[in-house]
Amino acid sequence: MRNYDVVVVGGGPAGAVAARHATVVGARVLLIEQGDGSGEPARCTGLVSPRTLDLLGASTTSVLREIRGGTLHAPGGRTLNIRADTVKAVVLDRGRLNRELIELAASAGVEVRTHTRAVAATTGRVWIKHQRNKEELKTAVIIGADGPQSAIASWFSLPHPTQLLVASQVVVTEDHLTPDGIEVFFGSDVAPGFFAWAVPAEERCLRVGLAAPLGTDTTALLTRFLGRRFPGEVVEQIRGIIPIGTVETTVGDGVLLVGDAAGQVKPTSGGGIYTGGMCARIAGEIAGYAALAGKPNRTTLAEYERRWQREIGRELRFGLAARRALFALSNSEIDVIFAAIDEPLILSLIAKKGDIDYPSRLVHSFLPHQKLWPRLLALITALGGWGKIEELARLAFAPRDHVTL
Ligand SMILES: Cc1cc2nc3c(=O)[nH]c(=O)nc-3n(C[C@H](O)[C@H](O)[C@H](O)COP(=O)(O)OP(=O)(O)OC[C@H]3O[C@@H](n4cnc5c(N)ncnc54)[C@H](O)[C@@H]3O)c2cc1C
Repeated sequence: MRNYDVVVVGGGPAGAVAARHATVVGARVLLIEQGDGSGEPARCTGLVSPRTLDLLGASTTSVLREIRGGTLHAPGGRTLNIRADTVKAVVLDRGRLNRELIELAASAGVEVRTHTRAVAATTGRVWIKHQRNKEELKTAVIIGADGPQSAIASWFSLPHPTQLLVASQVVVTEDHLTPDGIEVFFGSDVAPGFFAWAVPAEERCLRVGLAAPLGTDTTALLTRFLGRRFPGEVVEQIRGIIPIGTVETTVGDGVLLVGDAAGQVKPTSGGGIYTGGMCARIAGEIAGYAALAGKPNRTTLAEYERRWQREIGRELRFGLAARRALFALSNSEIDVIFAAIDEPLILSLIAKKGDIDYPSRLVHSFLPHQKLWPRLLALITALGGWGKIEELARLAFAPRDHVTL
């Protein structure tokens, strides 16, 4: 029976990064992925902050576009245009990024097996299947990086993310797209409980999608939305799941959960590449050290949970509180919020200080501007009064996460 220090299940961004970091500390690592390793068709829009590639250790070869701004659409028709002088986000070829991350893991010394599926696991053992061949492996630690409906979580009786969104996305051809701007659409008739987006990607291609709580027919909603806004030819169509809220515990004896499997996703945007990547670096390192020290138990592995909570936990809790406050609003309440924000100084602060990975930091930038206080009061009222946003404010002003990476 083959024996490893760490077996990583799932070759998405979180799994590939975790595997590489476990190898770097000296562990013998196997990464298994049921697909071909390209992650295609990509169930993702590929919009990330520019810092994400550095965090993942990836090059810029997967970058298709640089984004400097966007247009936000309120249900009542008001639009807000935000335009920054600097690059605020990049749009990625997700297949290329995935392949690069797997190649990086392999060149760092990870044994990579694609078209191989984990079919069962227990502490210290994983059973995998490649074509018709089943194999039993021994391992000190298993990292579950197998997405939002993680089988590893089920096999170890670890919790799953409790809130799931379903997302539908298409690629449409569009001759007149804004090359460096995204569009975001709010309203219960477009995407109840979330939003719709249009993001420029490959030449003449827009990734248009929307998400809503599981059980919603997002395909029908998207078809209607496309008919109204983006009547171009649909060249690709995908559906995917977005977990909201991190799971109560991400460790067990001989096991860690990371990425979507752990719900490490920004609750206001559904973006999980940055947050999952950050946690994956820690997961790999701690799993590697724990295995090499011969102590792959829950107590040793709990250091992973402490560290990722310290790095990104407060920001994810802020996102969850913001989601609760924002996505429960009626269309007319969203219109009031848009009216309160529609002020040149606010829009320029959003453009300058807005950060898609750390939305809480924006709140700080408004306060020194006394002339904005009446608008902030109007915003608080529109959000349901102080009682509704107390937690949000507390998290926004709590000490910042200790980002060391
Ligand atoms: C429509 C949509 C748009 C999105 N847009 C963005 C965006 O613009 N920006 C952003 O940051 N995030 C976005 N996300 C979220 C982002 O795609 C995820 O957060 C990210 O892919 C999570 O990475 P992961 O490695 O945790 O999981 P995944 O990417 O889901 O990878 C899990 C891997 O595990 C494999 N696997 C599962 N079970 C097994 C098994 N038993 N054995 C072997 N392999 C297995 C799967 O094949 C898969 O490759 C979007 C998500 C959706 C659905």
